[in-house]
Amino acid sequence: MWLNGTSDLIRRLKERGARRVALQFPEGLKRQSAAMAVSLKDAGFEVILSGDPCYGACDLALDTLKFADVLVHFGHSPVDDQPEIIFERYRMDFDTAVLENAFPFMKGNTVILVTTVQHVHLIPEMERFLRSKGISCIINEGGGRAPNRGQVLGCSFSAAKAGDVKEVLFVGTGLFHPIGIALATGAHVIAFDPFTGSAQEVSGEALMRRRFAVIEKARAAKSTGIIVSTKSGQQRMDLARRLEKLSPDAVIVTMREVSADELLNLGFGCYVNTACPRLAYDDQVRFPVPVLSPQEFEILCGVRPWEDYAIDEIE
Ligand code: SF4
Repeated sequence: MWLNGTSDLIRRLKERGARRVALQFPEGLKRQSAAMAVSLKDAGFEVILSGDPCYGACDLALDTLKFADVLVHFGHSPVDDQPEIIFERYRMDFDTAVLENAFPFMKGNTVILVTTVQHVHLIPEMERFLRSKGISCIINEGGGRAPNRGQVLGCSFSAAKAGDVKEVLFVGTGLFHPIGIALATGAHVIAFDPFTGSAQEVSGEALMRRRFAVIEKARAAKSTGIIVSTKSGQQRMDLARRLEKLSPDAVIVTMREVSADELLNLGFGCYVNTACPRLAYDDQVRFPVPVLSPQEFEILCGVRPWEDYAIDEIE
């Protein structure tokens, strides 16, 4: 359900004096794009819909915005301030009482509570419920790329970090975020899926074992492509230039979509990913050659000890 409703969006677009409206939906919400486009056309706007893949507010449809007065980006919070873009969050509700299923996995009675953008509106309710059961919550600001209290992203775990508390309760689906939190904080992490009602303890050990094997495989590579994304919120050219200096065989490669076919075509023996950090961790099985994170490349080049392994985040 949209956080503010379609009629509220129409009111805000009219207040801005917008006539041509560009729309962008992430992959999980694209099915709603046709109905939203027709509603806005019925309300008198010209509508242009971006049909390209989108996974975060780091990938704004700025090319489509060139043809419109305003871009409405659905499903995410802003990663930085852009006056010509409206961010429309999507809310997914659940009964916070199901959090009780996470209690058997808790070691203490204080947790850092974090979640993803579609559930951040429930943070106060989750906090109330946990307090009513004698569990104190620490809820940190999300940080620059995650503007909501308690919000984490796949590239930013700041909200899980502050203080001496070493137990984190992640509420959301999938295991990437909680594994990232475990690696970024060293905390005891409980992943709670609000839709299945199931909880589990999560550690980063299996991911680290897999990544160690990828680094070792990359040692045989004779050339390295340093991938720099051209997406609006993923560009890390300064980092790429610093990494390029670590190896005489490294070359910076700009890419919009990082695909297995393109990596094969380009022909490097390994790659370093400075685009969305999840690419290296989640998609290695799809890639024909090792794709390292920046920190893993530093380990490969001998400028970072393995003991200082860190998960990649975008500040
Ligand atoms: S860079 Fe990746 S993890 Fe970060 S917001 Fe974009 S898609 Fe999500």
